[in-house]
Order: sequence, then C-alpha cells, then structure tokens
Amino acid sequence: MTIISRGKWRSSTVSMHRVCLIHYHEIGLKGRNRLRFERRLLENLEATLSGYPVTRIHRISGHLAVDVTDASRIDEVAGLIAATPGVVRVSLAWCCKRDLDVMYEVARKALFDNDGFTSFKVAAKRSNTDFEIDSMQMNRLFGSFLCEAAPDAKVKMKDPDVTVHVEVVQGSAYIYSRTLKGVGGLPVGSAGRVVSLLSAGIDSPVATWRIVHRGAIALCIHFSGRPQTGDSSEELVEEIVEQLRPAAGIAKLYVVPFGDYQREISLSVPPKLRVIMYRRLMFAIACQIAHREKAGALVTGESLGQVASQTLANIRVTDEVCDLPVFRPLIGADKQEIMDRAKLLGTYDISIQNSEDCCTLFMPRNPETHADPDEVHAAWDSLPIDEWVEQILEDIEVTDCFCPAYHHSRS
Ligand code: ATP
Ligand code: MG
Repeated sequence: MTIISRGKWRSSTVSMHRVCLIHYHEIGLKGRNRLRFERRLLENLEATLSGYPVTRIHRISGHLAVDVTDASRIDEVAGLIAATPGVVRVSLAWCCKRDLDVMYEVARKALFDNDGFTSFKVAAKRSNTDFEIDSMQMNRLFGSFLCEAAPDAKVKMKDPDVTVHVEVVQGSAYIYSRTLKGVGGLPVGSAGRVVSLLSAGIDSPVATWRIVHRGAIALCIHFSGRPQTGDSSEELVEEIVEQLRPAAGIAKLYVVPFGDYQREISLSVPPKLRVIMYRRLMFAIACQIAHREKAGALVTGESLGQVASQTLANIRVTDEVCDLPVFRPLIGADKQEIMDRAKLLGTYDISIQNSEDCCTLFMPRNPETHADPDEVHAAWDSLPIDEWVEQILEDIEVTDCFCPAYHHSRS
C-alpha cells in the first residue's frame, strides 16, 4: 500500500495559473453532435474573449478550460463566459501540477478565496486512474489538511458554506471553490438563423435573448417612426444590441424608416384595423429579410393577451402574411417574469427610457382585438403592399453586429 504523507505547508512560489473551468451539461448529451457543439462553443468563446487576458481555450476531460493570464481579472473573464449560451457553470480555478504538496497549497488558497465561511467540505474527483490516490483518499487528505489550515471552520457534508473541488485529470490538477451560474442553453450557431422583430420595448430584447440562448443566430429588424418621428428608438435599440453583446448572437441590425408607411395606412384603412395593418406589413418585410438571410423563422416578444394586438384572433391574421413559423418565446410569460429577465440582461433600464417610436405613431383610440379576417383582407388588398415592400427593402439600413458564428452558419 502506498503511504501518502500530507506534506508541509510550503511558502515557496508554486507553479500554478488561473483557469476558468467551463461546465456544459446539455452539450454533453448530444451524442455524435457533441464535438460539433463543443467546437461551436469554443470558437464563440475565443471571439468573445479576444482582447481579454486569456491565452488558450482547450478541452480537458468533460470541460473546456480557459487559461487566464491576469489573475486580477479572472472575475471579469468568468462573468463573460457565464453569459455565453451553452455554459452551465464557470469555476474560477487554479491549475497546478499533480504534486500533493503543491495541491495542498492551492486548496488552501481556494478555501480562503471566500470570506466569512464557517463550514466547508472537499469534493475530490480523479478522472485519470494513473494518479495513485483515489477520490475517497483525496477527500480525507485534503479535508484534514484544510482543517488544520482553518481551525475555526467545521467540516459539513450537507450545505457547507464552501466546497473545495479538487479534480485530477491527465497531467494536471484543477482546484476551485467559487463557481458562477451560467446562462445554460446551447452555443450560438448550433440552431440556425431567425429574424427577430426588435422594438425598444421591454419584451422583444428578452425574446431575442431567449432564442439566441437556444443556439439561434438573430438578425434583428427594427421599425422606426422616422421620418414622422426622430430616431431616438433607433439609438435605444442600438444600445440594447450592445447590451446583449456577451451572448454573441445578434449578427445584424436592420432598421426600417417606417413612419411614412404608417401614415399612409392610417389615412386609408378603418382606424380599428391600423395596428393589424402595421403589424402585417412588419411581418411581410421581416419575412422577406428572413428569406434573403436563409433564416428559418421570425421571432417576436408577444405574450398572449398583453395588448390589443396580442389576442389569438389578431395573431392569426398577422401570421398569415409570412410563410415561415413565427416564434413567440414569451407567449406564456407574465410581464413580471419578463421584466425580471430584462433586468438581469441589463436591457430593462434602456427600454424604460422614453423614445419616439412607431409603436405610438398614428394609434387608433380603439384598436381591434378580434379582427375579422374578411375585413382585414379587404383593407390589406386596398394597399400597394408589393410596391411598398420592394421600396422598403431598397431603403433598409443594415449594421453588422457581433456574432462570430454567423459566417459559419446555415439556416
Ligand atoms: P415590446 O416590449 O417588445 O415592444 P410590446 O408589449 O410593446 O412588446 P407590441 O408593441 O404590440 O408589444 O409589439 C409586439 C412585438 O412586435 C414586439 O415584441 C416586437 O417583437 C414587435 N415589434 C413591435 N414594434 C416593433 C418595432 N418598432 N420594431 C420591431 N419590432 C416591433
Ligand atoms: Mg412595444
């Protein structure tokens, strides 16, 4: 039997470096696709982290590891990683060689990386059996070493304040006690492209984020009230796109100056049908962009019954103009839930700013809530829609945004 000494505390400099260790459950479940998903996540992270103090991103048994060169910025790097779709958790680890004395020193550092703890436990794992000490032995050894290092703290197996993880893989050990929750989902670029209708309101940024976090690439389209209004909604939408940058899922922002068309509609159709006409025209244009971009669906921030246009009857007559599926990730969500997510994403404070946009332009006093399809079709057919769509597509303005997966993606 091998006798293992617990070793002495060494104050000499010990070779170790900081690493963000990335955990990703759902990708791990994807069978033969796993490699493709992992590669997508890795490339997305490389792009997001370029300009940050990291050297390489590599695979180690069941994780991705990001080597961080400036330890003082590891929290910032880990925060960006946690916001990347596909990441379930990020641990702020140290990587060191598989030498017990070195590992003890690092485990101690990891324990004291937390303030004000009164209990802890060790969770050791050996992924490579060429390391002579198994997980149970490691738990005991590190547990008693840390008991000496922190005599005031108790070992507690259930709900301890701190868990010190020790993972031994081929050639090195990873040790950590702090972990951030990631956004989960799937890596951007693993689920095709969508066209997302993005207003400056609270809901559509959340809907866009939700679909992006399931692996889709979003081409966003914003309808501005210009030239009937100023361009303040466009500025807010640009801010929203920038705020969602960490997800790296918005490839482009299309802006349509829509005010004149709304004005034309408001002059020609019964007032109660205006909103439905605006929305049908928005969908018709978004659908054309989707075909151009080889996107497979439209996305909106609608939630059932929230406003007049969001009734089943109105949703049905609006969807008619588009031959692609229209996804509404928030259809069953309450406003409070949506606001909570918008706050987490940082888009809420942008969306609550006042802006002049097309949503409030030429609004009727009593919009239709249960549109009669025949009336809608008659009003629609009275408008020169094909001509308008062609003109709008010619005038549309487009800006490239940050989505490294876009150029590798197909619909
Ligand atoms: P939001 O908070 O997203 O603006 P809302 O509750 O205000 O939604 P509506 O204004 O009826 O509801 O819009 C429903 C959906 O239609 C929006 O979530 C968005 O997807 C789309 N939409 C509305 N206005 C615009 C716009 N100006 N540009 C792009 N899309 C829009
Ligand atoms: Mg709105």
